[in-house]
Amino acid sequence: MKYLIGNATVVTVDQERRIITEGAVATENDRIVDIGKTEALKSRYPDFEFIDAGHHIIMPGLVNAHVHLTQALIKGCADDVELMDFLQFRVWKLMGNYSPQEAAISTELCALEMIKSGTTTFAETLLARHYGLDELTRIIIASGMRGILAKSVMDLPSYASRDNIMDPGMIEEGEECLRIAGEWKDKSENAGDGRIQIWLGPRPVGSITEKMLGKVAEMARRKEMGIAIHFCEVREDVNLIRKTYNMEPGEFMEKVGILTGRTLLAHAIWLSQDDMNRIGKNKSTVVHCPASNAKLASGICPVPELLQSGVNVALGTDAGTCDNGYDMFDAMKLAAIMNKARTLSPVAVPAETCVEMATINGAKALGMEKEIGSLEIGKKADLILINCNNARIAPNINPISSIVYSVNGSDVDNVMIDGQWIVRKNIITTMDEEKIIHNARKAIYNILARTSVSNKPGWPVF
Ligand SMILES: [Zn+2]
Repeated sequence: MKYLIGNATVVTVDQERRIITEGAVATENDRIVDIGKTEALKSRYPDFEFIDAGHHIIMPGLVNAHVHLTQALIKGCADDVELMDFLQFRVWKLMGNYSPQEAAISTELCALEMIKSGTTTFAETLLARHYGLDELTRIIIASGMRGILAKSVMDLPSYASRDNIMDPGMIEEGEECLRIAGEWKDKSENAGDGRIQIWLGPRPVGSITEKMLGKVAEMARRKEMGIAIHFCEVREDVNLIRKTYNMEPGEFMEKVGILTGRTLLAHAIWLSQDDMNRIGKNKSTVVHCPASNAKLASGICPVPELLQSGVNVALGTDAGTCDNGYDMFDAMKLAAIMNKARTLSPVAVPAETCVEMATINGAKALGMEKEIGSLEIGKKADLILINCNNARIAPNINPISSIVYSVNGSDVDNVMIDGQWIVRKNIITTMDEEKIIHNARKAIYNILARTSVSNKPGWPVF
């Protein structure tokens, strides 16, 4: 497996952030072995299979740092409702009634969409036991992706201002969550040639007690696990922490030991300067999920202020219910424009920053920056090819502008992970695309019928 992919614009995101025109990337087995001008590499590697990537951008595979695999199947079932109603009457009701087969169908659908739109690594935050964890792990291994899979941990069926709102099917017991997470980690860590990691996914304050959060922190230290948590997504989260613990959110999370160098704080909208300082000091990552935050009217994450405070900011799509897709190019564009609108400053979040958030910052967030997140000699061969030969992207005079403002996921036509072609000329090699879409179409109507959740448009349907 020796490939020389050339005649492209190579956006490396390396230390110097080099962009190489008429560039090429040479890969051997699972590693990048050289990067440079196409002509030079052609003469250096005459026995490598040459892939002509004319009119393409080659860039690092994208890192989606906040994903819910099991919500891909219910996209379109929870639109235009307030967050609490969204959770109580739609999302938790639907997912609480999932069979393991339905969770598996959703996971396949999600992985398929992520891979085909250029995501090579993801972090899934909340996997409940009833989804069937072994089968979900098997699906991700078979897909060829790199995945962080976090076991949900909770001990209160409540959230923010509403008590006892969780669907019975979603309720789990705290100690049991930790036990399952530990067993899963022992069994599946580094499975799929090192592509799988098992983390802890405590539910947000309101669904978990201080005591249980402390146990999560202790287990994370003891078993060297990362932590992924929803944090200050809505103002009620802040009010709840103040009321219950008489502390500010950052102070509370620091005290219970949740702010670690391998902690992902999803959303992080309602933050004070003190919260940001504590997140930065502890080297935790904020995962900005712009589409979800805008659609659920949660607010806008203060990305420029976080970056100025020394916080690593990564990017995520969140779920099929609140983003209605898993396209990281959408996320980059929204990340670039939402903070411009909030701050009335067109320089608030430049396009280059968005590309960093979707690549190297995501890799840092997951503790994988030595292996992925940029195209550099010796790193894993995780890369994507973007076809720029279309009217939306042409004339493509600035590749960074194209990536953030013009490209969308369907422009990705080749994806390599670990040196393997997972998508080649638009065809996915590891999954049966037609069958997955067919299964999803069938499954959703069964779930809707069982739960009587309505997904009808506001207009009469004939
Ligand atoms: Zn989420």
